[in-house]
Amino acid sequence: MVGKLYLVSTPIGNMGDITLRAIETLKNVDIVLAEDTRVTGKLLFNLDIKKPLISYHEHSSGKRHTDILERIKSGENAALCSDAGMPCISDPGQQLVKDAIEEGITIIPIPGANAMLTGLIASGISTNCFTFMGFFPRKKREEEMRRVSSSLSTLVYYESPMRIVDAVTAIAQIMPEREIVIARELTKLHEEFIRGTTKDVLENLKNRDSIKGEMVIIIAPSNPETKEITDKEIEDHLKTMLSNGESLKSAVKTVCELYGLNKNHVYDLGKKL
Ligand code: SAM
Repeated sequence: MVGKLYLVSTPIGNMGDITLRAIETLKNVDIVLAEDTRVTGKLLFNLDIKKPLISYHEHSSGKRHTDILERIKSGENAALCSDAGMPCISDPGQQLVKDAIEEGITIIPIPGANAMLTGLIASGISTNCFTFMGFFPRKKREEEMRRVSSSLSTLVYYESPMRIVDAVTAIAQIMPEREIVIARELTKLHEEFIRGTTKDVLENLKNRDSIKGEMVIIIAPSNPETKEITDKEIEDHLKTMLSNGESLKSAVKTVCELYGLNKNHVYDLGKKL
């Protein structure tokens, strides 16, 4: 019988966030695929679980890939773990999942901690419609900020402490008055939320002797009161929600409530999509 591929989420800092299902799964699988075998090895040691660990990361060779899929096809159950949080979210795994699906292997996600959602829900910024943007761009930052500045969706980025000042500087250059939140050290002892306009948050960061820890940047959507919304932007907003599985009726309602728009007009635009 063909084995299964389990995508096991692990804590992003606080070990108490491991789920019962994650522990059960790690106990029951035959092999554990790890982004870093030392990190996952430590987690398994703390859980008193002994399993063969196989390294699987974004640079894993095609042969490693084929070997893993062959083992699952021959009946072994495998758990994929990244260093922290959900596998496949700015972490390795997506290609393995895609290939496993093509090979007819059943994928079983084991949900758990994730930095993007954890930061977003505590940010106080709208969760109605949000876009996860992955890591903040390292090049052409201002250009990228100009491109996304009229987004009607909350934007969520990952960033490292080394580049956080450069990132917030780029946001401040294009959107100085925009509300943003830096969610730092989530679930850890020094968890912190730095909230305010981009200008204020930048000043706060620059006034610190050092900036440590992992971070998520949450940027509020563009504010319609300070900007005229075009039909194209309304259509884009509706398209995003429709592609996320929302009904036209509910998407129209959300857009109208958010921006105080005329229902008939928004509905007419939505019907054309
Ligand atoms: N797969 C992970 C997830 O599900 O969230 C994300 C892995 S990604 C390689 C690492 C980035 O996630 C960090 O650079 C940081 O931006 C964010 N991150 C991870 N843990 C975090 C934490 N405890 N607090 C804030 N941000 C965190």
